[in-house]
Amino acid sequence: MASPATYRSGAFLEAAGRLGLDVVRAVDTPRSLHAVIACADLLPLDFTLIDESVAAVKGYAAEHPIDAVLSLDDSATLLAARIAAALDLPHNDPDAALAARDKWVMREALRRGGAPVPDFRRYALSIDPASVAGEIPFPVVVKPTTLSGSRGVIRANDAREFAWAWERTRQIVLREGESPIEGTLLVERYLPGVEVALEGLLTAGVLQTLALFDKPDPLEGPFFEETIYVTPSRLPKETQAAISTRTAEAAAALGLREGPVHAELRINGDGIWLIEMAGRSIGGLCSTILEFGSGISLEELILRHAVGRPLPAVARSGGAAGVMMIPIPRGGILRAVTGIEDARAVPGVTGVEITAPLNQPVLPLPEGASYLGFIFARSETPEAAERALREAHERLAFRIEPAISLISVA
Ligand code: ADP
Repeated sequence: MASPATYRSGAFLEAAGRLGLDVVRAVDTPRSLHAVIACADLLPLDFTLIDESVAAVKGYAAEHPIDAVLSLDDSATLLAARIAAALDLPHNDPDAALAARDKWVMREALRRGGAPVPDFRRYALSIDPASVAGEIPFPVVVKPTTLSGSRGVIRANDAREFAWAWERTRQIVLREGESPIEGTLLVERYLPGVEVALEGLLTAGVLQTLALFDKPDPLEGPFFEETIYVTPSRLPKETQAAISTRTAEAAAALGLREGPVHAELRINGDGIWLIEMAGRSIGGLCSTILEFGSGISLEELILRHAVGRPLPAVARSGGAAGVMMIPIPRGGILRAVTGIEDARAVPGVTGVEITAPLNQPVLPLPEGASYLGFIFARSETPEAAERALREAHERLAFRIEPAISLISVA
């Protein structure tokens, strides 16, 4: 199950082919288009119509028995949990999917479940930020409750920056259709420290850590752009074990029990803190750098787990690996990308994929929501993989021309 825009279905379909599984793709589609696009391996569902979609899949399953339901992205996690429950398959608590969608709900669920959380408060969009500045001691992070990819996440170190961050994030969520009266923003204490991402698999509530990624670029704000992920982690083994333990506690607090989890955590002198967690695998094209046992993909592991097949050795193989999500340096129209072949020629680089289309607008954080593309690398050591990514990035050049806004004058 996925949104039509997902990057992930190719890798999952390939893995399903290798495992000899029959797949029916449930794609989020407005109801008026269902009759037009339905075909043998495609089941259009409107993901916002939960009861109707559950009934449609139950009807389908009566004729074509279903062994597993898998959500490829956040858009489908709630519905996938409800469908799995209706089909009597192992599933996550649907509330865990709601928590993954709303950062305030997640913070509340973590606090209720006893996981450590930074101080946080939710405020109505309509308040005057000056009236609440400092309630959570500075520095703080202002966040939308329901966006992703670090959109609208802004650090503020004092009341003046807070007013600026509040207004910028408020404008972003208003443009996304948030109600100026009922909408809210989350403010939470800024957690210093290094950040990691954990990729794991839950079976009956027990977490297997599949990969731990370091994020070697400092993420200190004011905006929090993801760039480089490198695995294996260079953190001490005890810290890595403690990160897995904290992730397992957080999953239990959220009601996640089955299937893939992707978690972001920060580590500092006060401990290990969960920034966020979702019941799905890593985003974008990042999973292509992961290989387990003798060349098994992450998607194959997830599908094997979903249909109850035995898992092969899940030790990651192939030395160190890294991926760089290529950030958008400034807004405008992307006209040309050069140096791709030179970047591919860097020793250790295994691929360069430019995903942003030419001649289309690109928008950096905090308003933007995408990357220019991805660079992949493999090396003996994490240090060498990181160096290869940085060198390949330096060899790329992006021509971004200012966008001309047309203003009509009456
Ligand atoms: P999103 O779902 O949009 O990615 P997150 O809550 O994960 O939003 O925040 C995005 C990034 O912002 C995080 O990966 C982290 O680097 C930074 N961040 C978020 N909350 C905090 C915090 N309380 N303290 C420090 N950094 C934070």
